[in-house]
Amino acid sequence: MNIDLKKLEGIVGSNNLKNDIADCYIYGSDSSVHSGIASVIVRPTTIEHVQQIMRYANAELIPVIPRGSGSGMSGQAVPIKGGIVLDLKLMNRIIEIRPEDMLCKVEPGVVDDDLNRALKPYNLFYPPAPASSRVATIGGEIANNASGVRSVKYGATRDSVLGMKVVMANGDLVTLGSNTRVEASGYQLDRLMVGSEGTLGVIVEATMLLKPIPKFRCLGRASFDKLADAGDTISEIISSGALPSMLELMDNVAIVAVNTTLKMDLPDVEAIIMFEADGKIKETVDAEMTLMKKICEKHNGYEINASYDAGERTKLYAGRKKLFVALSRYQAGLSCTSLADDMAVPYSKMAECAQKIHEIAERNHVVMTAYGHCGSGCMHTKILMDPTKAEQWENAKKAVAEVYDYVRSVGGTTSAEHGIGLSKAPSWKKEKADSLKLLKAIKKALDPNNILNPGKMQDAPDDWVTATRLRYPVAEK
Ligand SMILES: Cc1cc2nc3c(=O)[nH]c(=O)nc-3n(C[C@H](O)[C@H](O)[C@H](O)COP(=O)(O)OP(=O)(O)OC[C@H]3O[C@@H](n4cnc5c(N)ncnc54)[C@H](O)[C@@H]3O)c2cc1C
Repeated sequence: MNIDLKKLEGIVGSNNLKNDIADCYIYGSDSSVHSGIASVIVRPTTIEHVQQIMRYANAELIPVIPRGSGSGMSGQAVPIKGGIVLDLKLMNRIIEIRPEDMLCKVEPGVVDDDLNRALKPYNLFYPPAPASSRVATIGGEIANNASGVRSVKYGATRDSVLGMKVVMANGDLVTLGSNTRVEASGYQLDRLMVGSEGTLGVIVEATMLLKPIPKFRCLGRASFDKLADAGDTISEIISSGALPSMLELMDNVAIVAVNTTLKMDLPDVEAIIMFEADGKIKETVDAEMTLMKKICEKHNGYEINASYDAGERTKLYAGRKKLFVALSRYQAGLSCTSLADDMAVPYSKMAECAQKIHEIAERNHVVMTAYGHCGSGCMHTKILMDPTKAEQWENAKKAVAEVYDYVRSVGGTTSAEHGIGLSKAPSWKKEKADSLKLLKAIKKALDPNNILNPGKMQDAPDDWVTATRLRYPVAEK
């Protein structure tokens, strides 16, 4: 691929262009199992830079892969066809905070936690709260429609987006959405960008809705001897009309991982759930907590602890917060891979889904765990396996296919929050079979030369294990 480095250097300056092999390799992967090689990494600092880069790439038919922090778990930011990796992390200004309008305007490279730190003095917060909030950028969160522990009450990223500025494939700058909570003026093009994973445009500014920090927060934890009981509890809490601000599940694999690797002492039971209520009025929070505790007890939940104290809450939640790290160290030789790692099912199927995950794992000789932001219907699983063994990949591939066949059969969806990218594409394409043509037509209309993050989502291969490079050196069978 012929890329005029001098031209790109002329746009962003030599300090903001990298093309040595180490950088190209590092920017070749994200937090998924996939890998590629970037041809060059370019770090724009202004919207004009992004426009100039896109004009050049579009004229020369060079792939451009927008990138935040690379924390995506489905291979979304992996440059499988090489090209320009557009690292947006230097565009990290909080442009304005408008407490009176409950909104802020930010550049795409602002990190979620940094935004929340800046909002705190205004007694406001930005709610989606993915577990990766320490690194994930607002641009990456919008492009993935990220969600998190508080989405059960405050929604996913899409519910916080008011508007944005986007540089299109041809370099044009468009302003989408508005500064208002409601807008009924035609196609919701800002929404189209949410979850578009860098395939339709580069988000260069975002206007986000904020919420007041609740005065009271109470977090509880309950133990269950049966995973099914925990699942039924979640389902009933939601249908009871209770309004949890967090409702999380951890199964025994997750509990053991946290206890052994992080030396915690979570109860060694089949499942625990964590539930939280928040609000301005303590009596209201008390009432929500009482209702949720009663539902836990009804489904045989016990050892129910709850606290308003920030330190106690941190302790109660610590295992869940550090779960990914714990799973990565679960057993020597096993890596924690993000395969079939997030899905959503209707609430009534939550318990069944958790159990299916375990059955499928056993049948396919891999270790799998069930946990997640179950209050919003999101179920996570990680496959723990030895990624250097070809037969483990075969097993994992079968397990992934079975999990997603099940999810689709009960009317669930392939990705709750970790996006489609490469890993989820095979199942997602089946799920969206009757709208694939439409998806492709939208991509073609907005990016006729197919330069924006090509080969992803609807255009991703059906068998990524063999059709894409993996981050692991896989031995022959
Ligand atoms: C430990 C861990 C925990 C996680 N927990 C959660 C969780 O709880 N909830 C959740 O939703 N996700 C979670 N994730 C996944 C990930 O953090 C999110 O998908 C996050 O939104 C990605 O942000 P990023 O800045 O790292 O984006 P990247 O990974 O860099 O990019 C992801 C995609 O967004 C596109 N993109 C990035 N910036 C832009 C832009 N400005 N314009 C257009 N496209 C852009 C990229 O092209 C790519 O397709 C987790 C990941 C890890 C590693």
